[in-house]
Amino acid sequence: MQEANCIFCKIANGEIPSKTLYEDERFRVILDISPASKGHAIILVKNHAANIFELADEDAREIFLVAKKVATAMEKVLQCDGVNILQNNGEVAGQTVFHLHMHIIPRYKGDSVNISWKPQDENSVLAEELIEEIKQTLV
Ligand code: 5GP
Ligand code: ZN
Repeated sequence: MQEANCIFCKIANGEIPSKTLYEDERFRVILDISPASKGHAIILVKNHAANIFELADEDAREIFLVAKKVATAMEKVLQCDGVNILQNNGEVAGQTVFHLHMHIIPRYKGDSVNISWKPQDENSVLAEELIEEIKQTLV
């Protein structure tokens, strides 16, 4: 299913042309328009889901297989030294396009890509009761 006015729906389903690296019935992999590094690609789901919370289970299961294929091809062809796989959900998490996608970012020694966070102190460790609650909620 597509959502009206969603640019990634239009790209994923071929209505807007893109630099496509791979396509199957569920996904289209394209080059990012503002790449973090040489070869930065994004995997788009064809069935619109705004984020991981809306993602169909079958798409969730399969997307990492596509990530593996793309990362493996990049390592071979671009001879990158590593790869980051990144998937943002929600504005606070850095999501700017609200159609689920997964970033495949080839990494090169000495590149300027910066994916980092500041480790928090132990006071922010989850309380036991919250750990229990999460465990109970995971089904
Ligand atoms: P987000 O910040 O939502 O995780 O990532 C959105 C990504 O989509 C960004 O890296 C941005 O450069 C890329 N992007 C946004 N619009 C377009 C577009 O029209 N075409 C392509 N190829 N990439 C896009
Ligand atoms: Zn969409």
